[in-house]
Amino acid sequence: MAKDELECSFCGRKKPETNLLIAGLDAHICDRCIEQAHGIVLEESKQDGTSELSSELKLRKPQAIKSFLDSYVIGQEHTKKVLSVAVYNHYKRLLQPASDDDIEIQKSNIIMVGETGTGKTLMAKTIAKMLNVPLAIVDATVLTEAGYVGEDVESILTRLLQAADYNLEKAQHGIVFIDEIDKIARKSDNPSITRDVSGEGVQQALLKLLEGTTVNVPPKGGRKHPDQKFIEVDTENILFVTGGAFDGIERNISKRLNMQAVGFSASKSDDAIERENLLKYIIPKDLKDFGLIPEIIGRLPVLTHMNPLDKATLRSILTEPKNAIIKQYQKLFEMDDIEFTITDGALDFIVEKAIEYKLGARGLRSLCEAILTDAMFELPESKDTKLKVDKEYAEEKIGKSGIKRLKAVS
Ligand code: ADP
Repeated sequence: MAKDELECSFCGRKKPETNLLIAGLDAHICDRCIEQAHGIVLEESKQDGTSELSSELKLRKPQAIKSFLDSYVIGQEHTKKVLSVAVYNHYKRLLQPASDDDIEIQKSNIIMVGETGTGKTLMAKTIAKMLNVPLAIVDATVLTEAGYVGEDVESILTRLLQAADYNLEKAQHGIVFIDEIDKIARKSDNPSITRDVSGEGVQQALLKLLEGTTVNVPPKGGRKHPDQKFIEVDTENILFVTGGAFDGIERNISKRLNMQAVGFSASKSDDAIERENLLKYIIPKDLKDFGLIPEIIGRLPVLTHMNPLDKATLRSILTEPKNAIIKQYQKLFEMDDIEFTITDGALDFIVEKAIEYKLGARGLRSLCEAILTDAMFELPESKDTKLKVDKEYAEEKIGKSGIKRLKAVS
């Protein structure tokens, strides 16, 4: 058959009428039919969204969830365990068949308390990655009551829709991570303060989302586009993970523990209490004393804490997680055919500096960047194929860099 006489076996168009005609074993398909077929596939998979979700989710039991977390998050054993169970229960709740008993499994929304840079966001990201669900990360500090300057609480759902590529079904099974939840604590115990626009009012608005409700969400966010159509989002099956540093909450915990020690329930002797890590003993009442309203606390039933990162943990974070910082640099150099190695001495040095500058895990990256920038600038165009960073090299580059100025940033 002459080339021009070939035709699409689906729509019958001749080759000259198409942009592209792809040959199969004994059939052809044109570009337009491919596009149409692709549309059908997408549509189908959208409809199958939930059943796909269920088959995927059934596979992971809490221990499997935890070992997935283990490969990305170092330490924080207790929180990983608590989250594994919470996530498992959450998705069990989604998959429960409709039954006529009255037992309704409630949501396992989570609240993580711990200093910044201890891995709260990482934890939420890792869970979303594992479940392959969309994740929206929002900062509670920008939220205000509707009608005030700032973002409405509903904007959280706009973000989630965006993360889900506007696939409503997916968004409704997604995860929302709200960082700095402590910043919307009630500023004062005085109930006569009515203009607490970024405090209790936001908590009240958030409460509705956490409980499960349908919200009309402007797809592109904001009140600036009054004419756009709203999308109705049901938050019933969205998992909310929140985190905050709750600066100073240790005082409440310590006070409570001391009172317990002199009171009736003095079962815990004072020496048994780890004074260094009081967050370990956090209970919902401490959150209430900090200024979260009891209803919000009730809707965040899974309360857990993050441990401060010690030297050993920081050291592991550099090299051990699946996408550890050092592995990332190795990959970057590898793309230029450069073999990058770093000595134990240099790694220990980086950790010491991160602790000295009080930069936590977040600082590890800035330090590595300061050490490696010169090499990343020069090596791609040089003949060198190896880069070995030892303590002296690291010391010299850090000395030259302005990283000490980071000290002030926390
Ligand atoms: P938080 O949300 O608690 O402020 P992040 O999760 O944003 O902290 O952590 C900041 C960075 O530090 C992350 O990019 C992550 O690479 C690293 N990090 C923090 N804690 C851990 C940890 N426990 N394991 C591995 N990496 C961590």
